[in-house]
Amino acid sequence: MGKVLVFTEHTNGNLKRSSMELLQAAAKSGNTVVAVAFGSHAGDVTAAAGHNGANEIYVVKDASLDSYNPEAFTANIASVVEKVQPTILLASASATGRDLFPRVAARLNTGVASDCTELNISGDTVTATKPMYSGKCFAKVNFENSPVKIVLMRANQLPVAAADTSKSATVVEHAAAKPDLKTLIKEIVKGASEKLDLTEANVIVSGGRGLKEAANFKMLSDLADVLGATVGASRAVVDAGWVGHGMQVGQTGKTVAPTLYIAVGISGAIQHLAGMSGSKVIVAINNDPNAPIFQKATYGIVGDAFEIVPKLTEEFKKA
Ligand code: FAD
Repeated sequence: MGKVLVFTEHTNGNLKRSSMELLQAAAKSGNTVVAVAFGSHAGDVTAAAGHNGANEIYVVKDASLDSYNPEAFTANIASVVEKVQPTILLASASATGRDLFPRVAARLNTGVASDCTELNISGDTVTATKPMYSGKCFAKVNFENSPVKIVLMRANQLPVAAADTSKSATVVEHAAAKPDLKTLIKEIVKGASEKLDLTEANVIVSGGRGLKEAANFKMLSDLADVLGATVGASRAVVDAGWVGHGMQVGQTGKTVAPTLYIAVGISGAIQHLAGMSGSKVIVAINNDPNAPIFQKATYGIVGDAFEIVPKLTEEFKKA
């Protein structure tokens, strides 16, 4: 059996759910699972990594890796790969993952399958499924002539079982590579929202042009608060300046795959569906019974969002 290296993402040492998914999938494959964590808080990830199936964790504890820097991260992943010699490398198809791993693949002269929704590992053989043409068809991808098979998985696609707290990972402190950087991060300005990022959210309430104006997004925030959800939006309302681009779901926005996606006043254009059709349960609220969103919806509510959404909020409050 070979080694599967899992690039873990964390927020100040709290392991992200998407990384738990990868660790558990790697553990099920029967291969040795090696996690890697970057940054000042990397050491805080070790317990959770072990509980989720890592046999070993490479901790690259260095403040220069607290924020994503393509050159620094590429050099450090390459350095860990050289030490660990994995046959498979798993990472999340997050903004970081999608920027970083094509660079890593080029550095290692190996193949990368990005934005995957299914993953099958049998020994050293990996097959992944990825949507193409905005989700109109799916490609099965496998690797040839790839010393390390790199797969980037969308979040919320793989199951997460309860962590096994009796398990732990051996910690290896790995010295940070310090390449000459051509770019430096001077400052990170955080967005106003303190909610979970859309790509990690388990429940999303999304609004479209049917909400008529920016102020009516408050109605969605109220519903989202009751459900513990994150608020998303269609491009039409982002372009209108009602909400920020960070909330846009779709082909030119974020790709999400929550357990529950509630689309309110969204028609269901193909570019919107491209970003959310991987959701497990889709509820559409629209006053046009012929709106295309109903063809993708698990449950459809035909009616006025301004009547239905407040009623849902009240009912969920009682639950
Ligand atoms: P509309 O299509 O105007 O739909 C509004 C809906 O609200 C209608 O179905 C209407 O029946 C309903 N409605 C109205 N009043 C009410 C009410 N009171 N109660 C309930 N329902 C009501 N779009 C994205 O979303 N994400 C993308 O990433 C994206 N990328 C794009 C990329 C390209 C290259 C292009 C060309 C387009 C892209 N679009 C994207 C735009 C996309 O084509 C649609 O224009 C957009 O998704 C429409 O947004 P909407 O559904 O909010 O608005």
